[in-house]
Amino acid sequence: MSIARFWRETPRRYNLGGSKCNGCGTVYFPPRLVCPKCTSHRQSIEKMTPFQLSGEGEVISYTIVHDPAEGFEMQVPYVLALVQTTEGPILTGQVVDVEPGTVAIGLKVRATFRKLREEGKAGVIHYGYKFTPREEPGTAPAPRGPAAPVPVPGAPAQDRAAA
Ligand code: ZN
Repeated sequence: MSIARFWRETPRRYNLGGSKCNGCGTVYFPPRLVCPKCTSHRQSIEKMTPFQLSGEGEVISYTIVHDPAEGFEMQVPYVLALVQTTEGPILTGQVVDVEPGTVAIGLKVRATFRKLREEGKAGVIHYGYKFTPREEPGTAPAPRGPAAPVPVPGAPAQDRAAA
């Protein structure tokens, strides 16, 4: 099955379907039923509407994984990144189709759907989004300074490098 066909046939829950608060405009992924930013949670319930994320964003933090989680053994080393989407939510995911050493803060990426891992011989396959660079090789921004991987957890959005 082609990637394009897979996208069309993938249920909304796998397709970056989030929610948006029409009270303050905040976008959530995964979708939320209430908006924690609005003063009245009860009122925000009726203002939440489904919202489709574009899947486009920018790497704000990343780490190169050499000691893989179970099921990822065939993929080391791989890059796990925090991606600030253009709509606001920060997603965690693997960056693929790129040399791990060339991933940098500020890299423009786009979500794509891939097989994440396969569980044993029963063949339970988990699908989800991964990220691929948006620019063609050679046009990606050069890393700023030494390419020192930083820990992924706990990086606040406001600390990301200016675009
Ligand atoms: Zn709100």
